[in-house]
Amino acid sequence: MGSNNEQVKDLVIVGGGPAGLAAAIYAQRSLLDAVTLEQEAFGGQTILTSEIDNYPGLPHADGYTLSEAMRSQAADLGAEVRMEQVTGVSHDEKSGLFTLDTPDGELVARSVILAGGATPRRAGFDGEERFASHGVSYCATCDGMFYRGKRVYVVGGGNSAAEEALFLTRFANEVILIVRKDHLRAQAAVAQELENNEKITVRYLTSIVSLGGDELPNSITFRNNETGETTTETYDEGSFGVFVFVGRVPASELVRDLVEVDPVGYVVTDERMATRTPGLFAAGDVRKTPLRQIVTAAADGAIAANSAAAYLGRPVEG
Ligand SMILES: Cc1cc2nc3c(=O)[nH]c(=O)nc-3n(C[C@H](O)[C@H](O)[C@H](O)COP(=O)(O)OP(=O)(O)OC[C@H]3O[C@@H](n4cnc5c(N)ncnc54)[C@H](O)[C@@H]3O)c2cc1C
Repeated sequence: MGSNNEQVKDLVIVGGGPAGLAAAIYAQRSLLDAVTLEQEAFGGQTILTSEIDNYPGLPHADGYTLSEAMRSQAADLGAEVRMEQVTGVSHDEKSGLFTLDTPDGELVARSVILAGGATPRRAGFDGEERFASHGVSYCATCDGMFYRGKRVYVVGGGNSAAEEALFLTRFANEVILIVRKDHLRAQAAVAQELENNEKITVRYLTSIVSLGGDELPNSITFRNNETGETTTETYDEGSFGVFVFVGRVPASELVRDLVEVDPVGYVVTDERMATRTPGLFAAGDVRKTPLRQIVTAAADGAIAANSAAAYLGRPVEG
């Protein structure tokens, strides 16, 4: 047993995004001995967002400020929140206890909320991993500024690709949207905005095959998905970048043996955020839900913490 395992926690919350931090706040209000573990940055995907226009009461919030407000609100209420990655979760049916592995040891808990969100899906072209963070990005807000006055390719045909392409016109001279199919899946209003923006061109029926170069990419090869023909464009090293927005992968791997998942891997819960394992809950983007937003993640987190408190026989809200 590692240094973490001094006591059995009421609740461990895996992930410190909006779902995890809302759960931390509600767990604190139910007087649970809970800890929230975050592997990368509190706020989760929210911290990657430049401007949030749809979180009620906070028009034009920026993601960093909202993330920090959520983290500090939880901490100020007395919630234990710390940077630590959970690398494994197991469940002992007899005792009902969960054991969570972390690089610092093990944690034992009576209940767990999985709020690990989702991570960007890779587009799958050659050179994507090699040039990640050096020419290939999954976050326009984080990396857009590095492409001021340059050319960027945006991969994807959905809403996030379209919105991020529009955002990147603030920096880049030229934004080329690379769409695998012959149409966009983005909402009509967003597609119209793309069309009206002079800096943006859309290449339909096109995929990126590979990126070439040394430290930074200097060539890019495309395939025409109709004819199969490939073409290579060559530029000065570092004069262009590729932003990939082709969906996300839910962080459900940790609990795959303990929950039902849908074909994509999203965790199936009931309306109380309960999974098929008693005491194990899932909240936010990691679960099967019709809408993945900050407001829904926070609501899920609140419900999950309330459900955990009820499971533990503690006071609940409402
Ligand atoms: C570019 C972009 C723009 C967006 N814009 C908006 C917007 O304008 N409005 C809006 O409402 N929503 C927006 N969203 C969506 C919104 O950010 C998400 O729906 C929301 O953040 C989901 O919250 P979550 O807590 O479920 O997951 P996440 O925010 O993904 O947080 C999950 C956290 O869990 C951590 N984690 C994962 N696995 C582990 C582990 N094993 N151990 C420890 N920690 C772990 C991750 O590091 C992460 O910090 C946007 C998303 C993106 C990517």
